[in-house]
Amino acid sequence: MCAYDYLVIATGYLNDFDVIPGIGPGGNAYSITSLKGAVDAAVGWARFLNDPGPVIVGATQGAACFGAAYEFAFNVAYHLKKQKLRVPVAYVSAEPFPGDFGIGGLPGGEKLLAMFFKRQKIDAIWDVAMEEIVPGEMRLMDGRKLPFKYAMVVPPFIGAEVVKASGLGNPRGFIDVKDTYQTLAYPNFYAAGIAAAVNAPWQTANAVGVPKTGFPAETMAHVAAENIASQIRGDEPTKEDNFGDIPAVCIMDAGNNGVVILADKMLPPRKHGVMIPGPQSHAAKIAFEKYFLWKARHGYVKLP
Ligand SMILES: Cc1cc2nc3c(=O)[nH]c(=O)nc-3n(C[C@H](O)[C@H](O)[C@H](O)COP(=O)(O)OP(=O)(O)OC[C@H]3O[C@@H](n4cnc5c(N)ncnc54)[C@H](O)[C@@H]3O)c2cc1C
Repeated sequence: MCAYDYLVIATGYLNDFDVIPGIGPGGNAYSITSLKGAVDAAVGWARFLNDPGPVIVGATQGAACFGAAYEFAFNVAYHLKKQKLRVPVAYVSAEPFPGDFGIGGLPGGEKLLAMFFKRQKIDAIWDVAMEEIVPGEMRLMDGRKLPFKYAMVVPPFIGAEVVKASGLGNPRGFIDVKDTYQTLAYPNFYAAGIAAAVNAPWQTANAVGVPKTGFPAETMAHVAAENIASQIRGDEPTKEDNFGDIPAVCIMDAGNNGVVILADKMLPPRKHGVMIPGPQSHAAKIAFEKYFLWKARHGYVKLP
């Protein structure tokens, strides 16, 4: 037992492998959304290179982490080219259009992403739900059957076990919060990052989640920390930042290329939004990875 005055719940996500039969540990497709899943996917890739065939990268209905699926698809295409392997590659997503990313897309993004898929010769299938994945075949709800030798599928996320057990979460295990990141239930309980519930302001034919990526996760934590400091001083927790108003700052890696994604707000309506393609994005992502790990290892939380 641990006594506390304030609580910040930042317990992230679990994979919801129940979304379709055939995914998850021991299933018929890999998922890189857990450490073990990523290691298994790498081992499977090494095996695949000795016995290559069609590749499918996908994100199921209800998924939100589309960036990881895009990056995987483009990195697969890049590595296949490096290995001089000519096999069909498909990208299958519940997103309504290329570059939606679960945030409704950005100006020019649809064209840009469609061009990336075309250039990499990836056959992209949009706005579709998956039915199941059987050994060597992905079955879509519209009746299509796609054979594969290697498949990686991003599932939807649900909240952590501890949130489910606490009764604080919504039916998906995420915690409803105010713009102060205080929970609706208790003023001294906060939730930040993926643990916090974010609802999409639109409906799509196939369920598409809103990605709670690194930048908004950190922003939520900063807001929560400032508000807790105010409460400790005896003041009101007045710092607010609605999820939809947090800037979108992200880099999508794509082999030896990439796209920097910047917008004044995560969710529309926005004033500004740009996607900047080019190899500098790939270099920037590697540089950011090294900087972030260095910052986290040394606890330099005040650095950007
Ligand atoms: C494959 C992949 C690629 C991604 N790529 C990007 C990217 O390029 N850019 C980007 O911005 N974002 C990316 N993201 C998203 C990014 O990882 C998340 O936004 C970020 O990790 C969210 O941070 P968090 O602290 O909310 O949750 P997490 O990072 O999931 O951390 C939650 C932590 O809580 C711990 N925990 C859970 N339950 C308990 C408990 N009961 N007691 C103690 N600890 C507990 C978990 O073990 C975990 O360590 C990616 C995600 C994935 C899966």
